[in-house]
Amino acid sequence: MNQKNDIQSPPFLSRVNLHANLNLLHRKREEKRGRPSKTYEDSSVSTKKRKNKDLLDTCGLDFILNSYTQGLRARGEREEALIVEVLRTLPPEKKSEIRNTLLSEPAHLTAYTKNEALGIFIDLNQSKAQYENMRSYLITKNCLLFPSYKSIREAKRMCYPPDSSIEITNIKAKIKLQDLLDHTSARLIKIDDVYKQGLNHLNLYSKWGCDGSSGQSEYKQPLPEEMRFCRPILIEFSKETPEKTTLVVNDINAQILALNPSLINHNGEGIEIKHTLFLTMIDGKVAQVLSETSSSAVCTICGAKPTEMNNLEKVRNKPVDEVSYQYGLSTLHCWIRFMEPILHLSYNLGFEKWSATTTENKDLKKHKKAYVQRNFREELGLNIDKPKQVDEELLKRFYVILQVMSCGRGIDATKFGQYAFDTAQLYVNKYKWFYMPSSVHKVLIHGESVIRHFSVLPLGQLSEDAQES
Ligand SMILES: [Zn+2]
Repeated sequence: MNQKNDIQSPPFLSRVNLHANLNLLHRKREEKRGRPSKTYEDSSVSTKKRKNKDLLDTCGLDFILNSYTQGLRARGEREEALIVEVLRTLPPEKKSEIRNTLLSEPAHLTAYTKNEALGIFIDLNQSKAQYENMRSYLITKNCLLFPSYKSIREAKRMCYPPDSSIEITNIKAKIKLQDLLDHTSARLIKIDDVYKQGLNHLNLYSKWGCDGSSGQSEYKQPLPEEMRFCRPILIEFSKETPEKTTLVVNDINAQILALNPSLINHNGEGIEIKHTLFLTMIDGKVAQVLSETSSSAVCTICGAKPTEMNNLEKVRNKPVDEVSYQYGLSTLHCWIRFMEPILHLSYNLGFEKWSATTTENKDLKKHKKAYVQRNFREELGLNIDKPKQVDEELLKRFYVILQVMSCGRGIDATKFGQYAFDTAQLYVNKYKWFYMPSSVHKVLIHGESVIRHFSVLPLGQLSEDAQES
């Protein structure tokens, strides 16, 4: 909204200037031709200025001012004459005070709508009493900026689907998916930027997922921005087991299969919204359960085991389970999953083995680990006496890949695939002795196919960050 003020219009201004200059030129030509000079009132601004200066140079300011106030009094304008005289002798700060009083416009207030007020109420994490106090302080200054608390309670009510679609028991709260999507679509259509007149058949792409959470001390942590756009489908107290995960996902999948398009009446116009849902807001663990992969060390797409990971020719030619593409790449978790091998590589660089078995190697690993951790704490990698380090080119490539995956824009799948495979080759050439973790393998070997699978949306937009918050 502020942008309007920020946008100056230089082309327009310069055109005005140009125009004025042309006038001046024109006038000078006319004068040269010896036309009779105009009266003061009929003169242009610049001519007036010239005439004023002539008078000032000849008579001086005091003479002119005295003539001015005398002239005012002669016309009966005694007040104005007095003001001019008093104003002349005031100190500068007093002058600006008077100027501000005379010229400042009364503040033009636009009251907040109830939805805007609700947004502020949530942003400021206010209580009902705080909101009402703030509102009444403003009212004592005749400032009716905020609607009543009752109005924002109404606005909040509008954010919820009808009671009938929510089921609450002692251990769980659950909402019917159809109702949730109908309500969400109807709310989205109300946003001015979303609805374009005449578009009566729309698609809504939603991502969904599930996760277990145990840290109950996290209760009441501030909600990150992402979370605002997240709608809970089911909250349940229960032990997170593979069976439970499968049960929950199957139940929601069944609801997805039975979904009807949402039919919305928007200002008398009928709009139909079809739904597509992506099960990508999950971490590797859930993907492992859903793809029935035996271990987290095994690839959920091609089933490659740790000992096969560094044989790129072999893993590249393994048959893939394309159904698993639907679970995406867990973009958010990739950051930590890519960090882990870098750390472990660095611990094991001294003896170049997958794991430390001899006492000597265990010692080497222990010391290197302490060293890396100390450096991490101290100065994130600014080492002066560098021992062996993880290849810098590999680090750079990991970083580029993670950035590209999370950027939320369309990715050229072919180029991504080539870059990722080159990176896998670099990894294997440098660190044959350290098996590539399954999550890194998944991105480097299957990333291209997963990106193609979701051609309708960029990978970064399917990430699981909202679920995590
Ligand atoms: Zn694989």
